[in-house]
Amino acid sequence: MSKEQLECSFCGRNKADTNLLIAGLDAHICDRCIEQAHGIVLEDVKKEDETGITNAELKLRKPQDIKAFLDEYIIGQEFTKKVMSVAVYNHYKRLLQVDNDDDIEIQKSNILMVGQTGTGKTLIAKTIARMLNVPLAIVDATVLTEAGYVGEDVESILTRLLQAADYNLEKAQTGIVFIDEIDKIARKSDNPSITRDVSGEGVQQGLLKLLEGTVVNVPPKGGRKHPDQKFIEVNTENILFIAGGAFDGIEKVIRKRLNMQAVGFSASMSNDDVKDQDNILKYIIPKDVKDFGMIPEIIGRLPVLTHMNPLDAGTLRAILTEPKNAIIKQYTKLFGMDDITFTITDGALDYIVEKAIEYKLGARGLRSLCEAIFTDAMFDLPSSDDKEFKVTKTYAESKLNKSGIQKQLKAVV
Ligand code: ADP
Repeated sequence: MSKEQLECSFCGRNKADTNLLIAGLDAHICDRCIEQAHGIVLEDVKKEDETGITNAELKLRKPQDIKAFLDEYIIGQEFTKKVMSVAVYNHYKRLLQVDNDDDIEIQKSNILMVGQTGTGKTLIAKTIARMLNVPLAIVDATVLTEAGYVGEDVESILTRLLQAADYNLEKAQTGIVFIDEIDKIARKSDNPSITRDVSGEGVQQGLLKLLEGTVVNVPPKGGRKHPDQKFIEVNTENILFIAGGAFDGIEKVIRKRLNMQAVGFSASMSNDDVKDQDNILKYIIPKDVKDFGMIPEIIGRLPVLTHMNPLDAGTLRAILTEPKNAIIKQYTKLFGMDDITFTITDGALDYIVEKAIEYKLGARGLRSLCEAIFTDAMFDLPSSDDKEFKVTKTYAESKLNKSGIQKQLKAVV
């Protein structure tokens, strides 16, 4: 193309009709199109702001409203729901404070949830992210290793968050990260493998900066840092971190601090001190987490400490039927899509709960048990004329015995 023939690839104007024509790889753009495009970008950013975190709707979510929302999805766990509602409210209040002229800096309220697996830790994090309409990344601390070791760098956490936010940096920077199994990176004093100890503590050190707020170079596609790779700078200052873990064995640490014997009470304890033996976790304090093997700096950066209660039969029963997207409601909907009326008797529900407790699978087991019981019907009924499906205890028992799941579950226990 000769110089005279050059034209804007967007509007088609000849170079002579423009004030400026900028060349790209194999296209050109004129000054007018640049101006127009700039206007579109500005408009888009403004819209983003309107729908983003700084909107008025968020301000309206008071702790009691947050808790009411959580109540719709999470059964029990009253203490954690309350503590989380306040922490999340304070976190977003901190985000919304426009100018800080009094030098009072509100610190981050990152959260540490301690509780057995399947008690709803992930569910709470997910529900909060859904309520706030912010991106959520769920990461497993066990895959994280210190730089140089086999595994993922700590920065990969932020890659996940960027992905969850569709690479919208602004959204990612106000998102939530749920770090599961944080207890697995505890330093274990009785662990014979020295290397594992070092790497566990190294990962904790790596996490520190992220938790307190810093700018991190994040490889957008994940993987190991590589000199030629382009990085996205992510500021973690306004990212809410929620860490969760089962902390197996921490009860022993708590009992020791409380001066309780493993069974029964110490003779020196007065009646006022009688503790809830079935839920020792509720007496947890940060020192116990430190004694378990988390470094004090990490604990300091997860200032909100809360515990999950073990799920008893009543709670499990409620989980099956009560939450907004309860498992049984989901099956009812699935069958309903084939015009099949699905009902289940109280006896059958109690039986499922009984089995879930027997296999010590908590709420997680409920789903596998239901699958085992309903699969035959889900396979056969859509092709049959049968429009009623009633599950009784006898039916549930026979399907479960046939399915082989009992053997599988027993193997797990
Ligand atoms: P955790 O993260 O503590 O291991 P999850 O949040 O992954 O447990 O829970 C597993 C599943 O069990 C959830 O998807 C949910 O269906 C159910 N569940 C667990 N606890 C509760 C609860 N308190 N209320 C409602 N559902 C629950």
